[in-house]
Amino acid sequence: MSTERTEISSLGEFGLIDHLTKNNEVKNASTILSIGDDAAVIDHIGKQTVVSTDMLIEGIHFDLMYTPLKHLGYKSVVVNLSDVYAMNATPTQITLNIAFSNRFSLEALDEFYEGVYAACEKYNVDLVGGDTTTSQKGFIISVTAIGEVAPDKYVTRFGTQKGELLCVSGDLGGAFLGLTLLEREKKVFLETKGVQPDLENQDYIIGRLLKPEARKDIIEFFAENDIMPTTMIDVSDGLSSEILHICNQSETGAVLYEQKIPVNDLSRQFAYKLELDPTACALSGGEDYELLFTIKQSDHDKIVLNEQISIIGYITEKEEGVNIITKGGNKHEITAQGWNAFK
Ligand code: ADP
Ligand code: MG
Repeated sequence: MSTERTEISSLGEFGLIDHLTKNNEVKNASTILSIGDDAAVIDHIGKQTVVSTDMLIEGIHFDLMYTPLKHLGYKSVVVNLSDVYAMNATPTQITLNIAFSNRFSLEALDEFYEGVYAACEKYNVDLVGGDTTTSQKGFIISVTAIGEVAPDKYVTRFGTQKGELLCVSGDLGGAFLGLTLLEREKKVFLETKGVQPDLENQDYIIGRLLKPEARKDIIEFFAENDIMPTTMIDVSDGLSSEILHICNQSETGAVLYEQKIPVNDLSRQFAYKLELDPTACALSGGEDYELLFTIKQSDHDKIVLNEQISIIGYITEKEEGVNIITKGGNKHEITAQGWNAFK
């Protein structure tokens, strides 16, 4: 972090907004009017518009002790884009609201915005507005993401049927393990002054937590291969919770195979080190921002072309419930907390 400290009060509100947005460039033809007026104007010619919003509160959703502000800016945008992709839509614009106390310097906000702009660049979205205000304590962020989708091509959480395949992108549990590691090292650091955190060889899981990516590539793969998932959701709260959302809203059950749940080797190794069950981390951990979706069996041959997609189970009748078949061949009912091994 830079050592300079410029008080935000020295710029005033409008000076600050100008400073933060002076290099903001429009990338999408759909952005008709951007920052600088009472509202932005967007025209998704012939498309439907998708809107999603999220808040991130310091101390609840992030800890600035181990979250670099640039990463926080990046993640604040990415988690919202992930929701738009989960609708099978393409994000095109965001608005960003921030509230901060006088603890924050201009340099700190600049770092945060560096991350915001990096995400906008990578995902080709325009920052078209926001609001800037103060808080008594802590940093508060709210992002609204706007996207477009061809008429009626959006994908909801309802509509899957018995026999369809349950699929997930990437790998799961890494972000939760990253959080566990950083929380543990924070505790050691606070209790034993001067002891530097031991984060060696854990770049993967730390990256999964601090710098998640949204699965733009999966949506593009669907479009290129003419695949229309029957339901979809992004994995923000853990696999169990997301499968239950799809099954509850579709009024179905599901069978999930433990063996098929994708967990990265580096995540698995760290889980074993902590004597945690990697499957439990995938089921109950959160913030992986992968896509969970269902497809018709007729799309099976297309889906297996993508190495980033795992088929992890299938949809059943509602009466059969939502179950996991363990590596040992046992069947357990899935609850939002994972699965109850005592049942
Ligand atoms: P108003 O008084 O109409 O709410 P503001 O002075 O809050 O207008 O904002 C002026 C312009 O700057 C608007 O286009 C608004 O969307 C944009 N803006 C304000 N804060 C931010 C921010 N933190 N990031 C991006 N754009 C912002
Ligand atoms: Mg305003």
